[in-house]
Amino acid sequence: MADIPTVLLPNGISVPALGLGTWNMGEHASAAPIEVESLKRGLDLGMTLLDTAEMYAEGGAEEIAGEAIAGRRDEVFLVSKVYPWNASHQGVIDACDRSLERLTTDHLDLYLLHWRGEHPLEETVAGFEELRRAGKIGAWGVSNFDLDDMQELLELPDGRNCAANQVLYNLSRRGIEYDLLPWCQERGIPIMAYSPIEQGRILRNPELIRIAKAYQATPAQVALAFLLERDGVIAIPKSANPQRVEENAQSVELDLSDEDLDSLDDAFPPPQRKHPLEMI
Ligand code: NDP
Repeated sequence: MADIPTVLLPNGISVPALGLGTWNMGEHASAAPIEVESLKRGLDLGMTLLDTAEMYAEGGAEEIAGEAIAGRRDEVFLVSKVYPWNASHQGVIDACDRSLERLTTDHLDLYLLHWRGEHPLEETVAGFEELRRAGKIGAWGVSNFDLDDMQELLELPDGRNCAANQVLYNLSRRGIEYDLLPWCQERGIPIMAYSPIEQGRILRNPELIRIAKAYQATPAQVALAFLLERDGVIAIPKSANPQRVEENAQSVELDLSDEDLDSLDDAFPPPQRKHPLEMI
């Protein structure tokens, strides 16, 4: 299989542009073995960026992730997220400690504010910076921040240390291409594209199916290849099915032609004006 392309973070660390999501994992004990196996398969295939959150199954997904990375922590770029209501200065520190315990590790590589809440951003950033100095996180970032939120963040003391913004981005949700994506690209802040296959909903699109057939590929692979075409974009598909994880990993081998990219633009038009950032 072709090597997975990489994206450079502002702190100089290079991460795979294709990682692993974990939302909905850890909900049912009976599914745990296949979830762990799926994540391990992804790690074996080089999808070594693993995205989780304290929210997912209220810590259950972090426990699954912890099992999957056991014995191979150094191979993994581990990302977790803090609930907005835990994002006071001390709250961030306490939430991080709980996440580390569930993940059975001593550090996260990237810690994100899951979405913006009531706590002033200055406080959250101060907590993140304290965690960074203590070596408990390698870098911090945000999630679900639109352009105005990002502009406000970068004006704050240490705000420029923001290492990523994780947002909804896929063929059917292209609003960020109008402003947020180019703004982040200019500043070298990667976008982590969540729900990169729109939780499966776009896979029945006839044009996507037509293009996929022409490459002897699947619609999911074309949807992921579309994202991998973009500079500074990291896609984090979730699958609890090892065969689908393999299928998703193989999307890096697809090289979409200009003609097919134009056809995708016709089927999923890029934005012509500002669209407020959508959330799932
Ligand atoms: P995805 O777009 O990754 O889709 C996941 C769904 O698609 C699952 O039902 C999965 O089923 C199915 N699927 C995966 N691969 C394939 C395939 N090749 N063919 C057909 N179906 C497939 O949605 P998510 O919302 O899970 O987003 C990905 C990750 O992004 C999350 O898991 C989470 O880590 C993160 N996220 C972050 C958010 C935030 O606010 N920051 C919000 C939402 C997600 P199955 O498992 O059975 O294969």
